[in-house]
Amino acid sequence: MGAIRLLPPEEARKIAAGEVIDRPAALVREFVDNAIDAGSSRIEVLLEGGGCRGTEVIDDGAGMTKEDLELCWQTHATSKIRSIEDLATAETLGFRGEALAAAAAVSRLEILSASGEGEAWLLQTGGGREFRLTPGRRTRGTTVRALGLFDVVPARKRFLKREGAEGSLCKQVLVDKALAFPGISFRLTLDGRPDLFFPEAASYKERFTLALLSQNERGFLHEISARGQGFSVCIVAGGPELVRQDRRRQFVFANGRRISDFSLLQAFEYGLQGWFPNGTHPVGAIFIDIDPALADFNIHPAKREVRFRDPGAVHHAVTSTLRDFTRRRDMSRRAASVAENVDRPWISPGFLSSGFLSPGFSSPGLSMEALLEHPPVFAPLPRKDPAGDMAFGEAAEACPSYLDSEFPDSAEPRLMGMLFGLFILVEWKDSLFIIDQHAAHERILYDRFAAGDIPRQELLAPIPFSTESAEDDRFLQKQQRELARLGVLIAPDDSGGAGAWRIEALPSDWRLSDGDTVRELLALRDAGENIAERWAATLCCHGAVKDGDYLDSAAALSLARAALRLPVPRCPHGRPLWKELSREDLFRAVKRL
Ligand code: ADP
Ligand code: MG
Repeated sequence: MGAIRLLPPEEARKIAAGEVIDRPAALVREFVDNAIDAGSSRIEVLLEGGGCRGTEVIDDGAGMTKEDLELCWQTHATSKIRSIEDLATAETLGFRGEALAAAAAVSRLEILSASGEGEAWLLQTGGGREFRLTPGRRTRGTTVRALGLFDVVPARKRFLKREGAEGSLCKQVLVDKALAFPGISFRLTLDGRPDLFFPEAASYKERFTLALLSQNERGFLHEISARGQGFSVCIVAGGPELVRQDRRRQFVFANGRRISDFSLLQAFEYGLQGWFPNGTHPVGAIFIDIDPALADFNIHPAKREVRFRDPGAVHHAVTSTLRDFTRRRDMSRRAASVAENVDRPWISPGFLSSGFLSPGFSSPGLSMEALLEHPPVFAPLPRKDPAGDMAFGEAAEACPSYLDSEFPDSAEPRLMGMLFGLFILVEWKDSLFIIDQHAAHERILYDRFAAGDIPRQELLAPIPFSTESAEDDRFLQKQQRELARLGVLIAPDDSGGAGAWRIEALPSDWRLSDGDTVRELLALRDAGENIAERWAATLCCHGAVKDGDYLDSAAALSLARAALRLPVPRCPHGRPLWKELSREDLFRAVKRL
């Protein structure tokens, strides 16, 4: 007699259910997804014992008829698709028809639903194939309840955490859903106690603020959108006022599902590079809305992963949109601070007295925040040749560049001296600028390097190295030309066999050891679309003037001038480049005002 037996169908059902429902949070996710798919505007979640004893989701969506109720908990019962072809157009969160079946296999499932006002039906199942349908009453919508999760599968029950811990996982799921669907109101009740309430919100930003920021953090969040081929992206990003030490407040959503996609989080941070101090992380969320034909969500049991047809396009949209946003923002800050400290040479006295800027004039909604979001009209002129890659929503607005913008007046910065071997002191436009020479030089080099302007030096003795994976090889082959533009000449080493390469040239004045050089080179693989920026950051960290380096006055002055012209007055790690003390600041400090 052979060793193989067929499992009884009931056992097979319980095992398969474990893929979909592994803990109470999965019940919450699936039931809430169904409520969203049913077009609900209000969703309530009630948990008993962290969801282990009971999970109930109440919605005001389309509801189900008696016939639908009878079918809905069968395996592969779904109203959302008819064949796999439909996945290319499905806009719903669910499509496999597995969730209710799985819930019914591992708990007692009860569903009360009405597809119109008045008449409702109650379905009750008991962990087996039997069920009961009885008439009931409720307003349009559905209540789904799972009781005694895993009572019938003790082996699984042992893997649950304490009720409190399961409860917080459920809460996280609900917060994720709430972030992705700001137009729906959500309420959470734990063991009869009200816990969370998110009223209907007008935007992702509003919902994010309410869900995740404390009272005094509000007001530092920005919302930017962009559009690409077959997708759009909305990004909510906190300013440098909201930095965190970890990435726990970063989220990626694709078509309403939270996904784990580290490379998109990296794209997010690259886009904001220079705006945040080194080693800190911005908070925020990326909401991608993509044509279902261009993304495969059917690769993970809980749909936590997605495969994009063109991941590069999505990454690029995220990074370039953010980069553009921070650039324009710093630009307008700069313009605003110049405007405050100089005698507003381009605003004629007549204009002032015409009342536009006078205190009596009430400008609806023209807050400082609004001014920063929408750069003021006196920001420098747009770049003459808007780069081809800026075909994204807000980002498509031309972005100012310091290359062709001059200061509004011709007063030149005047060198006052050096301080502590680090600072350059410059008088300019009624202000004293105290410039961090190291940071300023880094920024200037960074911009030059990122533009591909890197002098190169042939190595007398090429550095041999070998790759550890086929991906590394593919990366090097694909990027060979881009690397050459960035000052790194590499070539396959035919004498060394598979994966053998050598470095033949490096940027001039290269200071890293051979081992570190190879490591930095291969680390570029993680940079995705942003190799140039990443390489620029590596280079300028190692090449910039160090604190205490001697600068002669001509060099100091030209560094200061170049720094004051930068559109983003922060070093590549996000630190500010200078401190400005205006005449007023100083006068006030000695009480002359
Ligand atoms: P899927 O969501 O993948 O279709 P489910 O097992 O989650 O599979 O649900 C099965 C079917 O039950 C759904 O296709 C839908 O027609 C119906 N359904 C489930 N929950 C609800 C709800 N809250 N409101 C209306 N219909 C629902
Ligand atoms: Mg579903």
